[in-house]
Amino acid sequence: MKNIKLIAAALIVSVSSLSYAEGNRGQFNKNQGNRNLQVQALTAEEQNDLVYMREEEKLARDVYVILGEYFDIRIFNNIALAEQKHMNSVKRLLDKYSIEDPVLDDAIGIFTNEVFSEFYDNNTSPLVELKNAILTGILIEEVDIIDLQKAINKTNKTDIKNVYENLLRGSRNHLRAFVRQLESMGVVYESLVLDQAVADAIVNSPMERGSSNGKGRKGQGRR
Ligand code: MN
Ligand code: MN
Repeated sequence: MKNIKLIAAALIVSVSSLSYAEGNRGQFNKNQGNRNLQVQALTAEEQNDLVYMREEEKLARDVYVILGEYFDIRIFNNIALAEQKHMNSVKRLLDKYSIEDPVLDDAIGIFTNEVFSEFYDNNTSPLVELKNAILTGILIEEVDIIDLQKAINKTNKTDIKNVYENLLRGSRNHLRAFVRQLESMGVVYESLVLDQAVADAIVNSPMERGSSNGKGRKGQGRR
């Protein structure tokens, strides 16, 4: 458990330094000058967050697809389908704001961000035990919740906030599902990176309905 916490902390630290170090400004400015006359300009942080979240959703999808092949339980495959939808909604925002998609190859396990690459490699061993596979899911969802909350706090664009809120609701539901699975195996859940009180409040509240469960899109089509 300690190791998992350390890896998680390292993931967060290196991910946040990565997403701000790279920022590719020239390209973004060029795009804003030409094609996006009706679209509000995004800050560098907003752009970096979108690029980062696009691959973080891919990380979740890819890890769950592989773990779903290892174990004869539905949880990984079901959640992988939701992560695909999350990837798609971030992609629509990247397109809307003419930001380059970091997903150059949609194949499982391929990432532009090396931190995600490494995390994927370290957590998809065919030898992994079910309990640890579930803990990997819990870790991904906790990190996702933290990162989405930060990204929400850094933007005032309604369309972006709505997508993030939707992803966040999905992550809370996924965390609930993984914890339920863990506890069905007789393991007591302790949060890995999320504040324990925050984690408990999520896990002890009911599943939330919404588009991340496949139904109830709030009529927010593309413009
Ligand atoms: Mn997600
Ligand atoms: Mn998730």
